[in-house]
Amino acid sequence: MNSPSPRGDASASGASFDAIFIGSGIGCLGAAAVLARHGMKVLVLEQHSIAGGMTHTFRRKGYEWDVGVHCLGKVHDPNAQLRQVFDFVTDGALGWARMAPVYDRLVFSDRSYDFIAGAEAFQEELGRAFPSERKAIATYLGLLRGVERASQRYFIQHVLPRWMTPLTYPVLGWPFRRHSNRTTGDVLRSLTSDSRLLGVLTGQWGNYALPPGESSFAMHALMAEYYLEGGCYPVGGAGSILDTIAPVITRAGGQLRVRAEVKEILVRDGRALGVRLTSGEDLLARHVISGAGAARTLGVLLPERWRPSEAVRALQRIPQSIGHLGLYLGLRGSPAEVGLPATNVWVHAGYDHDANLRAFRNDASSPLPVVYLSSSSARDPAWTQRHPGRSTLTAVCPAPYSWFERWEGTRWHRRGPEYEALKAQLTERLLSVVFDQFPQLRGRVEHQELSTPLSTAHFAHRPRGSIYGLEHSPERFRQPWLRSRLPIRDLLLVGQDAVSVGVGASLMSGVLAASVILRRNVLGDIERQSSAYRRAA
Ligand SMILES: Cc1cc2nc3c(=O)[nH]c(=O)nc-3n(C[C@H](O)[C@H](O)[C@H](O)COP(=O)(O)OP(=O)(O)OC[C@H]3O[C@@H](n4cnc5c(N)ncnc54)[C@H](O)[C@@H]3O)c2cc1C
Repeated sequence: MNSPSPRGDASASGASFDAIFIGSGIGCLGAAAVLARHGMKVLVLEQHSIAGGMTHTFRRKGYEWDVGVHCLGKVHDPNAQLRQVFDFVTDGALGWARMAPVYDRLVFSDRSYDFIAGAEAFQEELGRAFPSERKAIATYLGLLRGVERASQRYFIQHVLPRWMTPLTYPVLGWPFRRHSNRTTGDVLRSLTSDSRLLGVLTGQWGNYALPPGESSFAMHALMAEYYLEGGCYPVGGAGSILDTIAPVITRAGGQLRVRAEVKEILVRDGRALGVRLTSGEDLLARHVISGAGAARTLGVLLPERWRPSEAVRALQRIPQSIGHLGLYLGLRGSPAEVGLPATNVWVHAGYDHDANLRAFRNDASSPLPVVYLSSSSARDPAWTQRHPGRSTLTAVCPAPYSWFERWEGTRWHRRGPEYEALKAQLTERLLSVVFDQFPQLRGRVEHQELSTPLSTAHFAHRPRGSIYGLEHSPERFRQPWLRSRLPIRDLLLVGQDAVSVGVGASLMSGVLAASVILRRNVLGDIERQSSAYRRAA
């Protein structure tokens, strides 16, 4: 490493910063806003031309799509911790719209099932569909709540000093790891032998991209519990998240820079000093916070001699989650005219999600294991004003990176006719699912565009085009090193790898990191301040 200028002389265009962020995903943005609200000057560096990570939106021909924000849980309640955090990092500027009472519709070939907002309504509706399984459903809901409670202590111990880990990890972590150590399938089979009920309870598996036989039950439970009270969508679309957080950062003198790719984390004597950009520019700060994922941060951005061997070895055992296809449709007609619901629709190939995914992975011509359909135009109350006469729908489906690997190294939009032919074929298959569910959309498609795992790798720098970072398997939750505090001093990890997939979880990882830097209970501060936002609301 070239010798950087002395510590404290951090500079970007002559300015000095307290903290540098690698990436502008919600984990980084959240931590940056918390630090900014505590008077710190921060610099957020994003390699892409648009900031926001998976919360960014993109536009074509007057249409706008979100990428990684379709539905959030809990934020409808001003007293919920996640809502309080959002209020804090946006200074109360971000509004939320509740989705339809049916937040998820699971479609199987013989019938569909609705998940209705509110634990009681959920239980009642499923009980009607599976009358002999009412007891199993009640036990299941109790388990979800238990995992959620246990998770609080598990994640809090992530920010405790590393020397405490041998003590805190087994003691504080155990109530959570009791659940995270088992697969979703294992736990649910101990409650019921009804394979249809198993398929329905795990019908949202796409939210963590691992079927029941492979996913950690804790991940399943956290996700299912998170949505039990229904779904919400940011007013003004996913882009409002960045639009409302950025002013909080800049008001305190902070900056966001796009097209600023970090090539290396600068380390001296075991402390992170700053970063080097691919342009060759060195930027120094007291703290470096990476939202670039565990594998890239520890295995690529850190100079080789500082890579923690335990983590690097473990990262070879924990695969990245599967990639995905995203079909983005621009539709002629207002939301009222196209008649799409503000409900997540999951179209499944069958009740056995493990078998469906296995078959598809082995043979691309097998039925699509699950297709998730979501319409931002149907969810955003500000949509019609922003995009009159237009609507959108997004279809998401898992897809392995290996199918596209041969085009790695080719350029976006210049990957050649074979790649385009494969995309056209996959587009047709997704479109047929869309028209099956919503026949009224035939003749309304004005724009269609398919993303593949190569697009995710290109735009979000995700290893192997992974949809949600490290796989949410039992093994992932057995890693004491996978946490905000990393073995390099003044280097922290935020984002979905630090806690778990999801905008809410990634944002919370940012709060945890900010607590470490500020050496205070930031969640306590946020809770105390939340009454001001409640009064304003
Ligand atoms: C298709 C899809 C749908 C989803 N739907 C939902 C949903 O409905 N609800 C929900 O809660 N969650 C959803 N998620 C998950 C959620 O979007 C993510 O878990 C979350 O946004 C991840 O945030 P993060 O902080 O880890 O950062 P990311 O969003 O992963 O951003 C990381 C950023 O770092 C940048 N970066 C990487 N390396 C460098 C570098 N070297 N230098 C500079 N910048 C770098 C990347 O370009 C990227 O912008 C979805 C995700 C996907 C892909």
